[in-house]
Amino acid sequence: MVMKLTYAGAGFRPALRITKRLSYFIPISILLNLSLLSPALPQAFQRNSDWQVFERMVRDGNISFQEGEKGISEWSRRLETEFPQGQFQKDIFFPLKGYSIRDVGGKSGDGYYPKGYSFLDGNRHQGHPAQDIFVRDRDQDRLDDLTGRPVDVLALAEGIVLSTFSDWKKGGPSQHIRGGNYVWIYHPALKVLSYYAHLEKVFVRPGDKVQGGEGIATLGRSGKNASLPRSPTHLHLMVLAAGNMEPLNAFLLLKSSPPNGSSLPAPTFSCGAFACPVYQALAF
Ligand SMILES: [Zn+2]
Repeated sequence: MVMKLTYAGAGFRPALRITKRLSYFIPISILLNLSLLSPALPQAFQRNSDWQVFERMVRDGNISFQEGEKGISEWSRRLETEFPQGQFQKDIFFPLKGYSIRDVGGKSGDGYYPKGYSFLDGNRHQGHPAQDIFVRDRDQDRLDDLTGRPVDVLALAEGIVLSTFSDWKKGGPSQHIRGGNYVWIYHPALKVLSYYAHLEKVFVRPGDKVQGGEGIATLGRSGKNASLPRSPTHLHLMVLAAGNMEPLNAFLLLKSSPPNGSSLPAPTFSCGAFACPVYQALAF
């Protein structure tokens, strides 16, 4: 009883290939496809939720390495075409309201450990190609000890929401998902994707355009390990180059952001007259 999902490319929905006679599975597949094509959703949402389909397949190990590689390069081209670099701001904003670079874990961002990481390994990936940003939550009630309110998670820069997940529940079918509730955003001016994990409530959905510093979620303790008492409440922030989904050290970006979610424009990278791809600015 094997149902194989084949990723049919960036321009298409995934084709369902049923390798054995499983006729009772067909209505489920039709239902899934219908939910993606719901007429209640605006056109842009439908179009852009395709990346979410790709992301879910990668996360859940339902795509071969070759198909994944193909998906990455097709998506890189498609995003670049649909969201021209010059039409978006590249200012960087610190992604937790009320916090700053001092709250990033480790010393000078040494919590970043990209070795062994591959986006295509999905939920089973190795390494820690990310920065963890810790908040004041000693009693682990997901509320800021100082304000008594949830901590707002802000978009790192202007961008397009590509994927969200908000169904994580301890003891539920998704409890093995390490990121818990999460958001993926594409930042056209920087040509990177940002990934925010261990969220509580998610306020955006695929296709949404967000400003840099705009609230996209509240911070939580969702995720297989992040939900355990040994884990202090934190945001897991990962930045990947859109061209190849290789990780970049977000610490260098965070250093250039103003503190406390202020709306002041951040210092930006300069590459002459052109918008500077972040991975070029981060080459060190
Ligand atoms: Zn982390």
